[in-house]
Amino acid sequence: MALVNEHFLKLPTNYLFADIAKKVNAFKATHKSADVISLGIGDVTQPLCPAVIEALHKAADEMGTKSGFRGYGPEQGYDFLREAILKNDFLPRGIHLDIDEVFINDGAKSDTGNIQELIRWDNSVAVTDPIYPVYLDSNAMIGRAGVKGTDGCWSNVYYMPCTAENTFVPELPTRRVDVIYLCYPNNPTGTVISKEELRKWVNYALKNDVLIFFDAAYEAYIQDPDIPHSIYEIRGARKCAIEFHSYSKTAGFTGVRCGYTIVPKDLTAATLDGERIRLNPLWNRRQSTKFNGTSYLSQRAAEAIYTSEGKQQVHDTISYYMQNAHLLLESLRRMGFDVYGGRNAPYIWMRTPNATPSWQFFEEMLYGARVVCTPGVGFGPSGEGYVRFTAFGSHEDTEQALHRIELWLG
Ligand SMILES: *Cc1c(COP(=O)(O)O)cnc(C)c1O
Repeated sequence: MALVNEHFLKLPTNYLFADIAKKVNAFKATHKSADVISLGIGDVTQPLCPAVIEALHKAADEMGTKSGFRGYGPEQGYDFLREAILKNDFLPRGIHLDIDEVFINDGAKSDTGNIQELIRWDNSVAVTDPIYPVYLDSNAMIGRAGVKGTDGCWSNVYYMPCTAENTFVPELPTRRVDVIYLCYPNNPTGTVISKEELRKWVNYALKNDVLIFFDAAYEAYIQDPDIPHSIYEIRGARKCAIEFHSYSKTAGFTGVRCGYTIVPKDLTAATLDGERIRLNPLWNRRQSTKFNGTSYLSQRAAEAIYTSEGKQQVHDTISYYMQNAHLLLESLRRMGFDVYGGRNAPYIWMRTPNATPSWQFFEEMLYGARVVCTPGVGFGPSGEGYVRFTAFGSHEDTEQALHRIELWLG
């Protein structure tokens, strides 16, 4: 008899974006001619840039020749991409990493979930709240999160609320934790962490022997010069942090699939006997066993982002989205809403008026303005009373959606 992994049964059966789709479909069924604009789901909408398309075509043609054909690649990724990453994403910021510390992934979601295979099941985990759901659900699947209570919290997880009251900067844990997930610029709140603030976290981790998983998926959206793009900009971080990057939001790779994970060689974790074990060779072993690499085509496409044309084109698309962010921020503020984020991230986090529950506001705006947002409570208990708007729509849709909201408010 095969026994099932019962931890899966503790996961909430409802998935946020499926719930949203159900409610939107219910609205459409009763309002046949009504068109709905979605500023909800966090997927990009603009096409891949020409430099990437050219690289994809070239790589595809190569694969069709005897001399250019590539089979299984290195599990850690091709050196041409790892070198481009070191040269463009880290060296200009004064960060010297070794090529063996870069692991090409097929997107950051996989690795933010997979990475916890490196640590024992009984480590205690701390997360900011609200949060990208993958961190918690992947821990729950192996039993590390405990059970989910009626308050929406996992019993073995330490929640660090991020709300307008603390300007969305979490306070350091007041009890012992082993692992901390941080994501900056943040999804869903669109807020950032300053270098000084991040230094506090690194120093805390070093002093208390805590491992930080740092998700930098939105790093390319940073506009202000003093916001850190990588946790390794902070001295000592390579002794306490693993960092995840993704080309999904940077260059519209949500359908191409490529990113990378940094596991520094200085990083260690303890055995029960107190022996220190390096995590870099462990992750290398894990990848060699369970992963056969990201496709050659995706890696050539990613490499093209680092050419001078690629950089300019990617920058232009990000500017396009950030114009939406700016418009959302300014317009919603002018309409009297309390809005946050949107300056260094493609998300606007908005407090609902009169503390209206997230889902109620979501439905009111759907029926009143035919605009879809994401209920904040779907990202965690501290998201209650907030909703998220994304800047990933077209200019036309974003303008139209704001126009509808204004009319709705009267
Ligand atoms: C979109 C996103 C990612 C990237 O996921 P991919 O698997 O690379 O597409 C990672 N972390 C957060 C918080 C995200 O919102």
